[in-house]
Amino acid sequence: MKKLLILLTLISCFSCKQSEEKTTVNTSSEPITEIKNDLERVEPPHWWTGFQNTKLQLLVKHPNIAKASPSIANKSITIEKVQKGDSPNYLFIDLDIAKATAGKFNIEFKQENGDTLTQTYELKKRTKAANDYIGFDSSDAIYLITPDRFANAIPENDIDTSLLETAINRNDDYARHGGDIAGITKHLDYIDDLGFTAVWSCPLLTNDMPQSSYHGYAITDYYQVDPRFGTFDEYKELADKASERGMKLIMDQVANHCGLEHWWMKDLPFNNWVNYQEEYSKGAPTHHSNHRRTSNQDIYASQSDKEGMSKGWFVSAMPDLNQQNPFMATYLIQNSIWWIEALGLGGIRQDTYPYPDKEFMSKWAGAIMREYPNFSIVGEEWSYNPLLIGYWQKGAKNNDGYESNLTSTMDFAMQRKTVEALNEQESWDKGLVKIYEGLANDFHYANPKDIMIFPDNHDMSRIFTQLNGDVTNTKMALSFQFVLPRIPQIYYGTEILMNDFEKPGDHGLIRTDFPGGWQGDSTNAFTGEGLTDEQKDMQAYLKKLLNFRKNNNTIHEGKTVHFAPFMGTYFLFRTSGEETVVHIINKNEQPITIDLKRYAEMNLKGKTLKNVITGEQMTWGDDMQFKEKGSVILTTKLD
Ligand code: CA
Repeated sequence: MKKLLILLTLISCFSCKQSEEKTTVNTSSEPITEIKNDLERVEPPHWWTGFQNTKLQLLVKHPNIAKASPSIANKSITIEKVQKGDSPNYLFIDLDIAKATAGKFNIEFKQENGDTLTQTYELKKRTKAANDYIGFDSSDAIYLITPDRFANAIPENDIDTSLLETAINRNDDYARHGGDIAGITKHLDYIDDLGFTAVWSCPLLTNDMPQSSYHGYAITDYYQVDPRFGTFDEYKELADKASERGMKLIMDQVANHCGLEHWWMKDLPFNNWVNYQEEYSKGAPTHHSNHRRTSNQDIYASQSDKEGMSKGWFVSAMPDLNQQNPFMATYLIQNSIWWIEALGLGGIRQDTYPYPDKEFMSKWAGAIMREYPNFSIVGEEWSYNPLLIGYWQKGAKNNDGYESNLTSTMDFAMQRKTVEALNEQESWDKGLVKIYEGLANDFHYANPKDIMIFPDNHDMSRIFTQLNGDVTNTKMALSFQFVLPRIPQIYYGTEILMNDFEKPGDHGLIRTDFPGGWQGDSTNAFTGEGLTDEQKDMQAYLKKLLNFRKNNNTIHEGKTVHFAPFMGTYFLFRTSGEETVVHIINKNEQPITIDLKRYAEMNLKGKTLKNVITGEQMTWGDDMQFKEKGSVILTTKLD
């Protein structure tokens, strides 16, 4: 406490000195002709004018910079406060840029010895209106990619000898394989053609880690694209090319932890920059998170469990960031906004949502949504419990008053129910009743159609494996999820029945190389060359369904009515205006006739409906015959 008081006194004296200087030094605002770059690091590397929030906090890193006095001659920019860290090599400068115009200006750092260091900083002009950053919603279908494993367009960038992991080995599931950003851009045609409207790539920022750096979740520089994935310009090109097609690019961000090799771990700005920092500094083993995610909501949770959850490290190689440090909080918020603005993003996926300080996460999402009112953010809460999934969504009526500001959460509950419904034998409480009752839980959600649904993702066994290699069941899982009031997300390769039968659930194997992404691949899923008939059929099936869904407002926005499972079948209806879309799951292997009287309230009797997959038309009569197991999607819209 004593130490804190001394620190606070130092800070306040320092800022007094600053405010005196402000009036005496600011004399000119000449245009900058020569760029000066004397400092080791200033972040964010540049900023923009025209945000709602007209404050900007710069993290400045340079040997002994804490002893220097910064000043800005440009009168339209005010230094409001200068604050030191615990390390002498950092300064945090609060700027007010409300009156600033776009352009470059110099920040001068007068040192104790009288010398001056100069850093040129740029405020750019925003090129797009805030309201035009449109996030993803239920009209979208998202293609999830593990970028190292999708396509290698630039073999020259596979290895970067300045980074710790230099090896590339396609035979090792946990090594880098060479996929890159340009590989995604190159195949946007394929993704677009399948009917997807959004791309979510796992993180693309530098992971300078000695092992398993391919997965991207151990970021070591929050402002740098991993050179093995490409350059900033290539990332921007991906965003622009996607945008030209009307597709949205979703960035995967991580606010909970960084990689152990992050540059700041060697010289931490504050004594509480990461949680359990003292142990780390002493080289002691760090506390791992207890992963007790319910402690965020649990009204009986002990303080010890709450702290163990939010302050423990996710794993030893990923230091837990302390978002209760206000400088860390601002750093993370500005970093997210920087990427949205720099790339023109169409959404953020935030990793491990319940792990960071939850009050901070609410501020983080709130700050983003304030700048981009039409944006979307999806948070990963890996829970099968709808109570928890609902808690994190904006508008939830939580008994602790928590408002997350988060537009979307992930429906792990329905993911699991989908698998159980199809794998289990039908009985009173098994099989299709799982999805029937699962969907009934929607009464709890503030906004069900903004929740993301998926058959699998990059962290779990592939859906084809989860469904024991049953192609028909896989098709049923997909068609069911595509008609739900949700935002569907599909992991790359689902369309060609990629699987992990060899070692179910093995992360390296789940993230198998997409065939055709590498020069010389004997199979090419982009062209269809070498695919089996089953794979081609699944690709065509997914394409047909997604392209139907893409333009179908009834699925995006319509009402939902479903009926309790009956004789191994489950009927779900979506309606809007004149259109009714009917989705039927039939699990009977033998031919069966279903009496349609129980669906009379849907007023379909005598109407003509079209089978979305086959194009065949039928009249809704007294009963319906099913020859074999499978799902059927019908629409009353015949053109
Ligand atoms: Ca490459």
